[in-house]
Amino acid sequence: MAARGLRAALGAVRPRGTGAGRAAGLGSAPEPSEPGPEPAGHATAALYVHWPYCRKRCSYCSFNKYVVPAVDEAAVRACLVREAQTLLRLGHVRSVTSVFFGGGTPSLASPHTIAAVLEAAAEVAHLSAGAEVTLEANPSSADPARLSGFRAAGVNRLSLGVQSLDDAELRLLGREHTAAEARAAAEAARKLFPGRTSLDLIFGLPGQSHEAWARGLEAALGLCDDHLALYQLTLERGTALEAQVRRGALPEPPEELLADMYLSARATLAAAGFHQYEVSNFARKGARSTHNLSYWRAEQHVGVGPGAHGRFVPWGEGGRQREARVQTPHPDAWMREVRSRGHGTRRRAALSPLELLQEVLALGLRTDEGVTQQVSTAGLGRREEELPLTGGPSQRWGLFSPSLSLEAAFGAPGEASALQERGWLRLNGRALRCTPAGLPLLDSLLPALLCQLRRRWKTVEEDGGGQGPR
Ligand code: SF4
Repeated sequence: MAARGLRAALGAVRPRGTGAGRAAGLGSAPEPSEPGPEPAGHATAALYVHWPYCRKRCSYCSFNKYVVPAVDEAAVRACLVREAQTLLRLGHVRSVTSVFFGGGTPSLASPHTIAAVLEAAAEVAHLSAGAEVTLEANPSSADPARLSGFRAAGVNRLSLGVQSLDDAELRLLGREHTAAEARAAAEAARKLFPGRTSLDLIFGLPGQSHEAWARGLEAALGLCDDHLALYQLTLERGTALEAQVRRGALPEPPEELLADMYLSARATLAAAGFHQYEVSNFARKGARSTHNLSYWRAEQHVGVGPGAHGRFVPWGEGGRQREARVQTPHPDAWMREVRSRGHGTRRRAALSPLELLQEVLALGLRTDEGVTQQVSTAGLGRREEELPLTGGPSQRWGLFSPSLSLEAAFGAPGEASALQERGWLRLNGRALRCTPAGLPLLDSLLPALLCQLRRRWKTVEEDGGGQGPR
């Protein structure tokens, strides 16, 4: 899909699980049978499902996608179903908090496939009727009849890859759709998913002026629902667009222009009533994506499908630590593995307590809520002691780091206090977060904060602490 893999404004990528850990080699565990006894609280996860096929290759795309003459959808569906059940069982996941179908172009899959995966998840874990179920859709495969089919299949939120409302820009991006098709799809989506349609837009195209971007954003505001995601184009090596820029056939957008585009877009969206709740995500009327928030809150997620990433504790394989897991990228190889052992996990890496904390920090600082010390029980209707230790909603620093508080890690004089003095960071007894001025600079602030964290953690380990949760 369009947004994933693009650098979000000033450098971040759409969440998908990125932490590097110690490689544990090929996943070779047998398919688990029935979930055995598990420690209380390892019961929830968000589910990401990857549909790897597209009809056409966009000029900027470096995602895991395949353009093939024909897709054996029944075979892919059977493997998605089997892998979803295997991995949910492996993680002893009792409740799926949200589902996200990404790609590739998942709106090319049939509603039958979407329904089958949702039913499969619901057979092995609780999937409440109110759980957010998002489908990424391209305007060229989002006509009203198809969208109605997806809604009937259980989808209740749509993320539409509009990218631009200018035909020349869409051609430059190699998109399959026209601006008129994007408008029609957005209007159909708003009718079918009122309050739950998000539009993706790209800025920073080679040769794009500030005025052109501002005009495009205004046009999108006239069309959108209550959620927008803005992504700065990243020229990834190996893409057609990057090659054109490298050859000098297209100009490379200057950094200052990109920063101006981002800052003026934030101001435009604020004036239109949108709240920035993450580096590149904006919502009004509370239309935040709960699925994406679960990534930024470092909650457990299970990734299903070719190349999908996940983060969960594989209790069914005897695991006791959260792992970063990546599924085999190529669909044919992935299907062979799923048929033979129930899942196509290619890489597994157990995350150490420090690696987990680094993820919590890097992801949490992307959001307006930042990294909070305690679990917030507001709205959950549960007492704090009832919340899961790992894998559950609203995980917070204190749960990941019982022996090193936020205050102890970042309160003393050091990198964080220097950033606070410059007005880019805020730490109080409850949370560490970027200020609005600091958020666009997050990529350049993070190395210093991670360095401070590593130093403090080393001290804790030397004092005999340092054990963390899973
Ligand atoms: S639709 Fe385009 S950007 Fe999205 S995955 Fe397919 S080729 Fe890539």
